Amino acid sequence: MLSYQQARELVISRTTALNKPQTESISLLNALGFVVSQEILADRDYPPFNRSIRDGYAVRAADTHPGATLRCIGELKAGDTPSIAVQSRTCVQIMTGAAVPDGADAVIMVEHTQRGGDTVTVDREVSPGQHIVPRGSEQSAGKTVLPKGTRLGFAQLAAAAQVGTAQATVFRRPRVAILSTGDEVVDFSATPGPFQIRNSNSISLGAQVQTLHAEPVLFGNAKDTHTDLRAKIAAGLESDALILSGGVSAGKYDLVEPVLREFGAEFIFDAVAIRPGKPVVFAVCQGKPVFGLPGNPVSTMVTFDLFVRPAIEILSGTEPTPLPFLEAVLTERMQEKPGLTHFLPALLEYGDHPRVTALRWQGSGDIIAMARANCLLVIPPDRETINAGERVYIVPRSV
Ligand code: AMP
Ligand code: MG
Repeated sequence: MLSYQQARELVISRTTALNKPQTESISLLNALGFVVSQEILADRDYPPFNRSIRDGYAVRAADTHPGATLRCIGELKAGDTPSIAVQSRTCVQIMTGAAVPDGADAVIMVEHTQRGGDTVTVDREVSPGQHIVPRGSEQSAGKTVLPKGTRLGFAQLAAAAQVGTAQATVFRRPRVAILSTGDEVVDFSATPGPFQIRNSNSISLGAQVQTLHAEPVLFGNAKDTHTDLRAKIAAGLESDALILSGGVSAGKYDLVEPVLREFGAEFIFDAVAIRPGKPVVFAVCQGKPVFGLPGNPVSTMVTFDLFVRPAIEILSGTEPTPLPFLEAVLTERMQEKPGLTHFLPALLEYGDHPRVTALRWQGSGDIIAMARANCLLVIPPDRETINAGERVYIVPRSV
């Protein structure tokens, strides 16, 4: 059976080979979370002038030593055009963000000076270049500020704004179809019969898709019949990717795989050595990535994070994010079945050091335990027992 790392690699390589998303132009005001499809270049040097990064006096460094006096010949605030050059034994008062005038090669902080009329006494030596960021040192005109494939977070949006890219060219958000399956499943807003359950998987999957800035398209629930599955899978395949939940185990009514096969699906894997989530299915069907996630709600959530997330990132035009492992100390001894990597709902707490405790749970149907967890505790396949006090890996909850 594939390890989860091998399965992720297959998802990444097969999704990368599929068609690239389309692009659109969008105002920076609406661009949070979008991925740039065209690199963003510096429209001029940054900074555009030698910029003072302190309030003080622009000086010639060679003129400074403890007790030296300089004649102040002018003042420059941010935005001013420097007109007077600094000559030997003179200085110009300068504010943070102002352009350093010709002749000066350093700024001495106002805290290190004493002013008397137009005379400035300095209390120390400054070195050439001190408190000045030279023109073009952050980036030079025409060079890359944000490479293609960068996701626009707040800092990237600020960088784009700084260089005058008011409209960014970005990849369209992938549309991700979500289809739950199961005769027992009713809409989450409905009142279930005594042996029915509400559709929570479409809610968690929709939310997980949204955390990736992709667009969920909800197709509700399909009955465990060929006819209903066929019709809803056909509709779902109109989107850029299709995620099904349920119907992939070995039960008599688990029909997802046979129906996908009718649509010409190429199955890349249909089991991974993990718990929860072992019967997870990945296929490519009509040029789209298709996932059949096990229906048990915690399995659905975990297998989304392990396998669907990298595919959606690639469809969004960016690189898949590696799993964000952190180290923590286990508080209680664990014993799990070997041969599988376990991803167990757990609580990470911070004292002197990060500590993690697996939550008591009733297995992969226990949504309430998962809702109390703030991370997944990873138990590797070669460890049957892990003692309290040992270091373990955890994956923090993405949101
Ligand atoms: P399955 O993978 O279809 O065998 O389903 C496994 C378990 O998950 C069963 O107990 C189902 O009732 C439950 N389940 C399946 N689909 C959903 C859903 N959309 N929301 C909540 N639970 C589900
Ligand atoms: Mg089912």
